[in-house]
Amino acid sequence: MDFFTGVRPLLFSYVLINGILITLQTKEEVLLDMKATGGELGWLTWPLDQGDKSGWEVTQRTLNGSQFYTYSVCNVGEREQDNWLRTTFIQRRPSASRVFVELQFIVRDCNSFDGTSLTCKETFNLFTSESDADVGTTFRKGQFKKVATIAPDEITSKNELRINTETRVVENLSRKGFYLAFQDIGACVALLSTRVYYKTCLATVKSLASFPETVAGGENQALREVSGACVVNAVSEELPRIYCTVDGEWVVPVGQCQCNLGYEEVKDACQECQPGFFKAAASGDKCELCPANTQRLDSGALFCPCLDGFYRAPTDPPSGPCSGLPSAPRDLVATTTQLSTGKLHLSWSPPEDTGGRTDITYSVECQRCEGNVCQLCGEKVRYEPASTGLTDNKVSVSELDAHLNYTFTVEAHSGVSLFASQATPRSNRPPSTSALTTSLHYTEPPRITTMRLVERTSTSLSLSWDVSPRIRLQPRPIRYELTYRKKDDNLDVTTYIVLLLEKNVVQISDLAPGTAYLFRVQALGSDGSPGGSSIEEQFETSPEGRLTQNNTAVIFGAAVVGAAMLFVVILVLFLRRRKRNSHSRQGPEDTYFSSSEQLKPLKTYVDPHTYEDPNIAVLKFATEIHPSHITKQKVIGAGEFGEVYRGNLKMPGRKEVAVAIKTLKPGYTEKQRQDFLSEASIMGQFSHQNIIRLEGVVTKFKHAMIVTEYMENGALDRYLKDHDGEFPSFQLVGMMHGIAAGMKYLSDMSYVHRDLAARNILVNNNLECKVSDFGLSRVLEDDPEGTYTTSGGKIPIRWTAPEAIAYRKFTSASDVWSFGIVMWEVMAFGERPYWDMSNHEVMKAINEAFRLPAPMDCPSTVYQLMLQCWLQDRSKRPRFGDIVNLLDKLLRSPDSLKIIADFDPRVSIRLPSTSGSDGSPFRSVSEWLESIKMSQYSENFTCAGVVTMDHVLQMKNEDIKNIGVRLPGHLKRIAYSILGLKDQTSTLSVFAV
Ligand code: AMP
Repeated sequence: MDFFTGVRPLLFSYVLINGILITLQTKEEVLLDMKATGGELGWLTWPLDQGDKSGWEVTQRTLNGSQFYTYSVCNVGEREQDNWLRTTFIQRRPSASRVFVELQFIVRDCNSFDGTSLTCKETFNLFTSESDADVGTTFRKGQFKKVATIAPDEITSKNELRINTETRVVENLSRKGFYLAFQDIGACVALLSTRVYYKTCLATVKSLASFPETVAGGENQALREVSGACVVNAVSEELPRIYCTVDGEWVVPVGQCQCNLGYEEVKDACQECQPGFFKAAASGDKCELCPANTQRLDSGALFCPCLDGFYRAPTDPPSGPCSGLPSAPRDLVATTTQLSTGKLHLSWSPPEDTGGRTDITYSVECQRCEGNVCQLCGEKVRYEPASTGLTDNKVSVSELDAHLNYTFTVEAHSGVSLFASQATPRSNRPPSTSALTTSLHYTEPPRITTMRLVERTSTSLSLSWDVSPRIRLQPRPIRYELTYRKKDDNLDVTTYIVLLLEKNVVQISDLAPGTAYLFRVQALGSDGSPGGSSIEEQFETSPEGRLTQNNTAVIFGAAVVGAAMLFVVILVLFLRRRKRNSHSRQGPEDTYFSSSEQLKPLKTYVDPHTYEDPNIAVLKFATEIHPSHITKQKVIGAGEFGEVYRGNLKMPGRKEVAVAIKTLKPGYTEKQRQDFLSEASIMGQFSHQNIIRLEGVVTKFKHAMIVTEYMENGALDRYLKDHDGEFPSFQLVGMMHGIAAGMKYLSDMSYVHRDLAARNILVNNNLECKVSDFGLSRVLEDDPEGTYTTSGGKIPIRWTAPEAIAYRKFTSASDVWSFGIVMWEVMAFGERPYWDMSNHEVMKAINEAFRLPAPMDCPSTVYQLMLQCWLQDRSKRPRFGDIVNLLDKLLRSPDSLKIIADFDPRVSIRLPSTSGSDGSPFRSVSEWLESIKMSQYSENFTCAGVVTMDHVLQMKNEDIKNIGVRLPGHLKRIAYSILGLKDQTSTLSVFAV
């Protein structure tokens, strides 16, 4: 039967054309297309023609002028059909292991054939067979594998033609080609089209990487990985990759390519930046517009260079804007607050134009000019906080000399300044970047040059004096402090009178006739501070009865005295005669202070004994505290009058503070109570960083107390012993500087301490040292070092100057001697001065000009200062002011502490050389340790098995440390001693200067 019998051909044609159109839209690589062949296909049929019983037949049809062929079979009425139709050899592309077979076919409804329905089928089978070569007409069924049974979705009845399209996949192809075969087993079927194709992922550019056309993988390789390459002018850190799916789609691109510097992405390619734009890095970014103050380059710019006069700091991003140099700082002004200290403050406003930057800093340059000659100040002046890199608009400049013109140049800098200076010489830079200059005439505080007698009578003297520089140069009127006293120093009482004057003339009345007076005048700075050195002159009143020389001169006095302010009144300083037994602390009769320091009566220590009732004195100088505000916590020491406690003080409205509380033990006499409280009367007059501060007293209750600031580290001698060798000289000198500053303050107030020693210095948490232990007789009575002398009273011999021991000449100069001993104690970490020598031996040695040797590791400069303090002639000893200055200098140039004074361990740390006290070698380790005062380590030596002197001699520094000697000073001491034991030749020598 012919397949097409009774089928309407028009409808059939229409469907075929549509089918072709659909095929053209797909993206497939076609290996075989039955329709497109357009001619005889040459497919093999089997079995071969057998008359009526033919199998698949080819039919040629013409549609719209085109020829096409179909294969059909329709042996529905016959049993056991097995008709094969085999395609020609289909060449496989090497990578196409998976092909699609798209079939268009028609299957006729078995019911449409009357009486044949028993054998009629409505399906056929698809087979395939692989081969490396075309086998021609050879056909063996057994070589074919079944791919699928093809069943129609829709069956064609007589009047309605239904075309089915089915696609099947043939997988795992590996040989050079293959055949398809259609097996009919008794259906009425027409094969209209067979199309064999494989899918490819088309060549593509994704994320700026190009990937080649790729055959889609098979089931074994559902995603085929493909490597690509960046497009021109694009780069990638890793090889770009992508996957081709079985359906021929690209998915998951990996490893992005990015356009190079100067290029940006435009439609899957990298294009040069437009003129005026730049791109500084390979990135996915677009080109950016050139930033402010930069040049616009041609296309493809990598960066935009700065316009002339604009710069980038090395730390600025190359893509950022360029900035100009800052303009000059404005409104530079200089102010002084402390004329006498040669210090001034410069301040200015920020530059008007910062060049668009925020990192503005300033530098200051100083020039000193004498006449027209100017030179850089260099290191002569000091800047606080610094002379360069200032971020604040101010700086202090100190150590300026008087009477010089200083020119200060303040320059503004920014991050581009340095860069600009390298790029462009200063002369070529825009003038707006130059510095602003201002001049300052720094004026010295007024100084008295001459004092003269204008007029005298038997009871009055008129004086005038000159001041330099001239008054008209002074910004504000100056004042003068005039101090005078009778010259006669044989009296018990010296009376100083102090006048504060506003003019440089004065008349002084009510003087004794025919008497010499000493006058000292000092100018005060505009801020009230004492000016330069004062001048002292002696003038005498006329003998009684003589007429005045010049009556007109009286005018001076009357006017001036009226204007003058009587500032401080009489200070009565008790000067006990040498022969009398006295414990007075003052010595203003002493010639030692003939210089200006002596005359500071504006702030002079007042001896509480000048008050008839010492209770009034204490109330005048000390604050009364209610005992309920005081909490005692722990006993920390014991004085002669009672325990010393640590505790707290909480005054209403004030913060609680740690305090030391000195108590007066019960059963005291009234005299003892007054002596006890006298310390507070004295301490209360002082206010200095290096003097123990009095918080107040309890006097109105039975248990009197003195409350002072609390010094956490206690007495200096003990503290240093506990930290033997732990501090560098710099720190020790810092401590001495503090003590000296406190002593200068006391001596300026004409207070003589008389018991200055490390045990009377207290140390706080900040290692600040403060002078303590004030009082009258009780101080020395209280001091265990106090020794009765032949001249009466108790004296701490080792600390006391020879003239004070010999004839009780206690002065600030004798305090200076004691200070020298304190320096030695400090450098020797609390060693006892003159070790175990007796007081008598010490006095004898001193009288024979022997002095303490330099302590271990003592800077030579420091030891020289000690020796100066121990000069026999007290007038040659340095004053506390000199000492403070010198120590200050040493601290400012730490190099000055580098040279160490000669040091002999056998002398300086009293190390016996070879043997015990009787001259024989040490018999035991403990005997040796005792001799070097290191007995506390006896157990350490024993525990470590160092039990004979032989063992000791073999010890290395490391071993000493390992047995538990921790303090550096102790380590040194033991090590030196062992060294000495090895070097048997030396003997203990006498120390001398
Ligand atoms: P004094 O009676 O002043 O010699 O004091 C006896 C001891 O009390 C001193 O050696 C210190 O150990 C201790 N001491 C005295 N005053 C204070 C203080 N303000 N802070 C700490 N400890 C102190």
